[in-house]
Amino acid sequence: MDLRIGQGYDIHRLVAGRPLILAGVSLTHPAGLGLDGHSDADVLTHALMDALLGALSLGDIGKHFPPGDPRWKDADSLRLLEQVMVLVRQRGWGLINVDLVVVAERPKLRPHIEQMRENLAQRLGIPPDRVGVKATTNEGLGPTGREEGIAAYAVALLHQP
Ligand code: MG
Repeated sequence: MDLRIGQGYDIHRLVAGRPLILAGVSLTHPAGLGLDGHSDADVLTHALMDALLGALSLGDIGKHFPPGDPRWKDADSLRLLEQVMVLVRQRGWGLINVDLVVVAERPKLRPHIEQMRENLAQRLGIPPDRVGVKATTNEGLGPTGREEGIAAYAVALLHQP
């Protein structure tokens, strides 16, 4: 069995007047902030897509879904994730598991983690017990700590029988 591992990272700015969507879950920020970006700016799903693409050396989401392309304006990132999984499967690869970390001071993400895992598992075509989602604050440090943005990290493990 051949194995491949990939990692992904992303960060988006927190701004007023934008939705806050993480792994397809719409959240309410106490200061009314959301994530800036060309698509729906779902930073967690973006990091995951980069991990999947990276595992197969297929570049990054900017290559597959260019930010200037009107087709991806306000795009549902879970739909983009489905397209990435088509690329993975077309090449004969299957997914073993993924593990994600989202770095945000607010809002409290714990009540939403299970829904995030379910949303991602459904699009990835694997059971939720193979989708790890963890949330942490940055203890007030750096750009995420100052709530200038929300960042996310992901790893994905793929196999080919
Ligand atoms: Mg992004």
